[in-house]
Amino acid sequence: MVDVRGVHKSFGALKVLRGVDLTVRAGEVTALLGPSGSGKSTLLRVINHLEKVNRGWISIDGELIGYRRSGDRLYELRERDILRQRTHIGFVFQHFHLFPHLTVLDNVVEAPVAALRRPRKEAVATAERLLARVGLADKAGAYPRQLSGGQQQRVAIARALAIEPKVLLFDEPTSALDPELVGEVLDVIKDLARSGTTMVIVTHEIGFAREVADTVVFLDGGVVVEQGPPGAVLDAPRHERTRAFLSKVL
Ligand code: ADP
Ligand code: MG
Repeated sequence: MVDVRGVHKSFGALKVLRGVDLTVRAGEVTALLGPSGSGKSTLLRVINHLEKVNRGWISIDGELIGYRRSGDRLYELRERDILRQRTHIGFVFQHFHLFPHLTVLDNVVEAPVAALRRPRKEAVATAERLLARVGLADKAGAYPRQLSGGQQQRVAIARALAIEPKVLLFDEPTSALDPELVGEVLDVIKDLARSGTTMVIVTHEIGFAREVADTVVFLDGGVVVEQGPPGAVLDAPRHERTRAFLSKVL
């Protein structure tokens, strides 16, 4: 489903990703762990082509992201084609990024209508169904500022689902939440996992990763140090750097 191959990404002299390989299979949940600054957010952003890569490539369902191949060279796609590709990728940010001037319902309706040209009536019906799914049917008319952080993040998840993405990317979806609100967001993500949504989740919630992830990937220094089933990576890590990291967060 998602293939990341040999991806390098630098910001000026700073090498952030140094040859990352990652395979995400359809219907699976991948938890991405790693210390601060290890390149986790950058990796999610290159999957979405919010950042260009310096080397390597990413494909989703066999389609190159951000580039087209001609001979042995890659050429960046036009903005219009990049935006079209992004409509297949849902992104949930640490700080929600809801549209503050739109109601909850309109936050969820916006992309299907504006980007996918769905009839508004149909988009509203879908949005109502998704808001019910994240437990917010009664908040459709509210504005983001009237909601708790946990509620805002659940709206952001409903919004990401509204485009029917092939893959859903989460960048520390609970890190900005008060501790008592973390559970309600993780419960929504667990429900998605059970229903077979393909997801890549950057998280520091190790217990959650153990419970929902099919694969745990440990990133450090811009490379995948170790990956495998949670039972292997979290309980019997083979690399010293993984052990050192886990001893700090567990
Ligand atoms: P993580 O999410 O694992 O904490 P990031 O991917 O956010 O790590 O960042 C990795 C490194 O890249 C950090 O040193 C960060 O400061 C740097 N970085 C990230 N984005 C940019 C950018 N747009 N410009 C310059 N440096 C960046
Ligand atoms: Mg980050």
